[in-house]
This record gives sequence, structure tokens and C-alpha cells, in this order.
Amino acid sequence: MKGGQFGKIGENMVAFELSKRGWIVFLPPYDERIDILAMKFICSTCNSLWNTTHNLFCANSQCENHQEIAKTRIKKSKKCTKCNCTFSRQSVPSQSSICPTCNTNSLEEIALCNICESEIDVKQRNCTTVGCQSTNYRIVFRSIQVKSTHFVDNGQNLGFNFKYQDLLDDDRHFFIVYLRDIKNYDEKHHFWVMNKNDFISIKNIDTVSFKIYQNDRGHYNPDDLKNFHYDSSMTLRINHKLETSTDPHRISIYRILLKKYDTFLKLDE
Ligand SMILES: [Zn+2]
Ligand SMILES: [Zn+2]
Ligand SMILES: [Zn+2]
Repeated sequence: MKGGQFGKIGENMVAFELSKRGWIVFLPPYDERIDILAMKFICSTCNSLWNTTHNLFCANSQCENHQEIAKTRIKKSKKCTKCNCTFSRQSVPSQSSICPTCNTNSLEEIALCNICESEIDVKQRNCTTVGCQSTNYRIVFRSIQVKSTHFVDNGQNLGFNFKYQDLLDDDRHFFIVYLRDIKNYDEKHHFWVMNKNDFISIKNIDTVSFKIYQNDRGHYNPDDLKNFHYDSSMTLRINHKLETSTDPHRISIYRILLKKYDTFLKLDE
């Protein structure tokens, strides 16, 4: 694999991990100061992922279609804006706008529930947290610098370059180190996720080579980076527990635990 190719593969591997967590990712077409721009819709009340799909529901709170109604269960009908009478598709021809009751040119198309014939509306409460009543979302952005790396020093350390210009002074900027490793014919993908302060904690940024010569290659011991390492196996285990658990106390414990292993969640803070 060529060096430039591998760098781009690392960016795409990170983009895939971000997509799995609900981020919408953008890769700049030219070599810019950042490798990935990511955005997410979140609930403005509880910060959970916001569901951006267009969902419909029956306005009648007693109806089984109240939470959500499938498009196939919607009855197309007409309503008179003068006398408020409603008519099924069968009783009024689809092209006609003449009301059979008051005889005025006042019929409009409406969508009704196929069970209770109440009106259909677009869902505004789209927070993915069960029970959250928020109708407002926010859009958040993150910029990401990806460093694709190999093991160096006989497999002891990770080697990657940092440029001074990589260090953007913004809390929304992140560094993600990607490593592809093959051991015993088994391919593994590793990620270390760092924010600006994490990066400063592992790198002396006051060196001449970092400031002046721009291409400061560092060798980093994985043990020193383990707080930033993404543990995919533990993440999958905890996510499975979260999906199968109903006890709110346990769910909140699993959520806290998940942050320790799924370091990509640092981008949500
Ligand atoms: Zn919410
Ligand atoms: Zn009418
Ligand atoms: Zn209904």
C-alpha cells in the first residue's frame, strides 16, 4: 500500500466509525488543515441523537397509530374548508374540488388514519431518548485530524508525525490516530481518540522541531496512550447490554462505563 493511499484509508476508517455513531461526515476534496468535518443533529434538551427521518403519526392519542403511522395505513381523503365535512377517496372523484354537501369549490386533500379517521401530522418530538418530549434540535460540528500509523521500533511504539498547524485551538477539534496491525494472520484496526488537551498532554509542543521544522515525528508507547484507545470488544458488549436492559439505574451505569471504552464518545461532549 502506498503511503498516500494508506493515509486516505485511515481517514475513511475513522469516517466509518463516526457514521456508526450518528455523525454525518464530510471529507474535503483537497488537502486542507483538517481531514474530516462531522456534524450531528442532537436534542437541545438532553443532547441525545435526534431522529431526522420524516415520521408521521395519528393525532388521536387513543389510537394505535398515535406513536407512528406507516404510509400504507394512511387514508387519502378530502375535507371542505367551508363546512368541514370530510369525504373518502371513493365518494369524491380525485380531480374534483366541489363539496357534495355545501356545493362550493372548497375541497382540499387531507390524510387520515385508516383506523380512527383522525388527521395525520408530522412528528416534532424526534429525540431518540424514550420519554423525552423535546421538539427542538441543535446541529453540532467537529473537525478531525487523522494520523495513520504503523508500529515502529520492532512493534514497541506507534510512529506518527505532527505538524504545528495540526494544532487547532478549538474544543471542537480532535486528533484520531489509526493503526492497522496484522498478527498471526489476523487483521486488527486500532483507534486512539484525543482532544486538544489530550494531545498537549502527550506531546511537548514547545520544541524547536515542532515549531520551526514542522515535521516532528514522534514515537509513542501504546501504554501511554491507553486512556485514548477505543476498545471495540468492550464497546460492543456494553452496547448489547444497553439494548437489552430496561432498568434505568443499570442503563445509566452502562452509559458511564461505555465512555471509558468507546473513546469516540468524547466527540459528543
Ligand atoms: Zn431529548
Ligand atoms: Zn362543504
Ligand atoms: Zn388513528
